[in-house]
Amino acid sequence: MEYGTATKCLYGNGDTLNCDQSGSLSVPIYQTATFAHPGVGESTGYDYSRLQNPTREALERVVASLEYGIDAIAFSSGMAAIAALMELFRPGDHLLVDADLYGGSTRLFDHISAKNGLSFDRIDFSSVTREDDAGIEAYIRPETKAIYLETPTNPMMRVTDIAAVAKIAKAHQLLLIVDNTFLSPYLQNPLKLGADIVVHSGTKYLGGHNDTIAGFLVTASAELSEKLRFIFKTTGAGLAPFDSWLILRGIKTLPLRMKCAQENAAAIVEWLQKQRVVTKVFYPGLPEDPGYEVSKKQARGFGCMISFEVASAELARKILGSVRLIHFAESLGGVETLITYPTTQTHADVPEAQRLANGITDRLLRLSVGIEDTEDLIRELERAFYE
Ligand SMILES: *Cc1c(COP(=O)(O)O)cnc(C)c1O
Repeated sequence: MEYGTATKCLYGNGDTLNCDQSGSLSVPIYQTATFAHPGVGESTGYDYSRLQNPTREALERVVASLEYGIDAIAFSSGMAAIAALMELFRPGDHLLVDADLYGGSTRLFDHISAKNGLSFDRIDFSSVTREDDAGIEAYIRPETKAIYLETPTNPMMRVTDIAAVAKIAKAHQLLLIVDNTFLSPYLQNPLKLGADIVVHSGTKYLGGHNDTIAGFLVTASAELSEKLRFIFKTTGAGLAPFDSWLILRGIKTLPLRMKCAQENAAAIVEWLQKQRVVTKVFYPGLPEDPGYEVSKKQARGFGCMISFEVASAELARKILGSVRLIHFAESLGGVETLITYPTTQTHADVPEAQRLANGITDRLLRLSVGIEDTEDLIRELERAFYE
């Protein structure tokens, strides 16, 4: 038996039911570095909190259940998770990565993984249609070990057909890694579509309150889980017990937050489309968006992220300077609506040529829509745009 998503957000697959003999509904915070052994050669199952911690494990089981994995590993940040993931590879290995990625992932690949001997080719995976896989296959070499993508991408909201790419990955024995941060497991489950590893920045929708940094790697393979667990315990970027508890608490309302924020996002998209100073809206929920059909097929919603282009860089800067209720801040996925300027913030470290090729101009703004009253958000945008 498998619970539905909303129930899993509270209890995993029952893992956090009756988690403590006192009857505590909330998973206790095991604020300990180490655990006493009953005797020589005996263990309670817990030895040292870098390896295992009951609070972190409860969280890991909830996230594993939400993503239909057998194991989820909770890291101190999304980047710590991705950095650990790169330890799966050896010098000389080659990876195909999405041309449009979270800026921090691009920085890691370019400046740390490359130094460690990995090489990368960047591909716009969203251009791959189900039948036409020639685009990817031309890049696959004997040293190619994995495909790494985000969908929808950050910040251009391009949508990739995960199942289609998974088919190519399988045919060439490549690992398919999908960063599922933007839609969260409430709306999309890449493992079910054929991915091997799912990445999350738990800082975003899973935590949901702009108050904790966390990251996850989820897999449905025992072999991968074993390899990743070894890297995890050896490199040591595990999520702290208190932060694990905060993310557990955040996840409980994931479905409610996503529903509400998604409704707000739809209203804002509609408003943006009516503004003459908005030259383009990037949102996969628009029927004319190139990602619309694939989104409908592989996800249960279009998400709460919107990118849009305004008529001039001056207007973009004016909006950023005028917002009050909406915060001009990096990050996304929280209950508070945030506006970001990718060109100087999240994607500042992406080489300029690549940034521009992706469409990240000085007229592009990105909204992470929160759960405020819709009317307040629209009024705020009207004021920030025109006053
Ligand atoms: C934020 C983010 C990351 C990095 O996660 P941190 O928790 O900030 O380290 C990775 N991928 C995506 C898509 C993100 O939005």
